[in-house]
Amino acid sequence: MNPGPVITDDRVRAALAGPDMCHREPEFSELLTRVRHKTTLAAGGDERHTSVILTGSGTSAVEAAISSAVPADGALLVLDNGHYGERFQHIAAAHGIRTRRLAFGWATALDLARVEAALAADPELTHVGVVHQETSSGMLNDVAAVARIAHKHGRKVIVDAVSTIGAERLSLAEDGIDWLAGSANKCLEGAPGLAFVSAARSAFEGLGGAQGRTYYLDLYRHYTAQEKATAPAFTPGVPAYYAFDVALDLALAEGWEARHARYTALAERLRAGLEALGLELLLPPGQRAAGLTAVRIPDNSSYAELHRGLRAEGFVIYSAQERLARDFFRLSTMGGMTESDIDRFLVVLAALLASRV
Ligand SMILES: *Cc1c(COP(=O)(O)O)cnc(C)c1O
Repeated sequence: MNPGPVITDDRVRAALAGPDMCHREPEFSELLTRVRHKTTLAAGGDERHTSVILTGSGTSAVEAAISSAVPADGALLVLDNGHYGERFQHIAAAHGIRTRRLAFGWATALDLARVEAALAADPELTHVGVVHQETSSGMLNDVAAVARIAHKHGRKVIVDAVSTIGAERLSLAEDGIDWLAGSANKCLEGAPGLAFVSAARSAFEGLGGAQGRTYYLDLYRHYTAQEKATAPAFTPGVPAYYAFDVALDLALAEGWEARHARYTALAERLRAGLEALGLELLLPPGQRAAGLTAVRIPDNSSYAELHRGLRAEGFVIYSAQERLARDFFRLSTMGGMTESDIDRFLVVLAALLASRV
């Protein structure tokens, strides 16, 4: 029940055992082009958009987007309401990018009036960095509204959609997202090891000529290799591509709306059961993403004890991070989970809590 890597479909897992393949041969070219295309569709792109696939975890895509998109004379407005918002700040700092950070507090909704005021006050801010689902709390941020405000002021948005793409509403084309970072192993239900940045083709082209801040994560280098030479810039994780190819087929066939409904049904079943056990949820209903629930650790227990007891029955729960870690734990409903998994989890948890009284 960790928020990625998720439980994968048997067809995705079986694909990992595909043939040994040289990534400089036509077979890989075709696989790469196919995966890029389907990734762009999953991100809500159309013929104007494309994607660059990176071998790395979700953070590699976020870092590639920030370090490549913000120009040398640009600056980033960081919207921070949790661990992953803070990560924007840390990544920008590592690359010497000037930032202005709006810290709203963890598990606190973004204040759009403050976003607007910050952009109006500082014309040198060229980009806004925002997380779609702040996975530290499970809070869904209104990135479409952030994009509208940014565009009104002539700025670009960089969205960390790592924990949402595939199961929450977000679209390159409809929301005008300028840079979208995602990964294969959360709501797209692929194997870990691949991440991606999706954007307009013209945006990737616009990176040409700039001196890259990094060599390995330079998006223009990856874009030119993948788009013009239809080959990866560096040795890719070939088996993860096999798995992602299949996972994308399943994701596109199901559609994000149906997947959202599936995760939501699981989450609602889980949340109702937790509340029936007297457990407190971190967020109010209107702010929760479908894929994650943060729960207060009951007074008579601890994370270590819950983790140990549940793991012994086959359930892996996930700790909260930093300032939320002492009081909360997290349960994901992403991936190939079933209602009977949730029901059995609740039975096991109830027994564990009862044994403590
Ligand atoms: C999982 C996640 C990431 C990436 O984490 P990795 O450990 O690099 O996979 C980035 N942003 C958010 C919001 C996430 O949930």
